Amino acid sequence: MKIRKEDNVLVIAGKDKGKKGKIRFVYPRQNRVLIEGVNMIKTHSRARQQVKQAGLIEREAPINISNVMLVCTRCNKPARVGFKILDDGRKVRICRSCKEALD
Ligand SMILES: [Zn+2]
Repeated sequence: MKIRKEDNVLVIAGKDKGKKGKIRFVYPRQNRVLIEGVNMIKTHSRARQQVKQAGLIEREAPINISNVMLVCTRCNKPARVGFKILDDGRKVRICRSCKEALD
């Protein structure tokens, strides 16, 4: 996975195109990510034990990982991600525009 939890990403497709947000959750099997404040949907909550709030609530829905780009923490630009193996054998992600390691 190129995208991880806590990453900042830019949405590049879909109704929230242009929005930035932080990854809250990654669903590797579905290739989807949940991003703070992105792809809000209104949903009717059923009465569950943990959630006392009933009725219409707004929450984020996961979007496809191909619709987001990682925002580089070094150069602050949406970046294509590459990988690099360090001398100690660790595999880290790198930003392809500034070549800096992201992990
Ligand atoms: Zn960069």
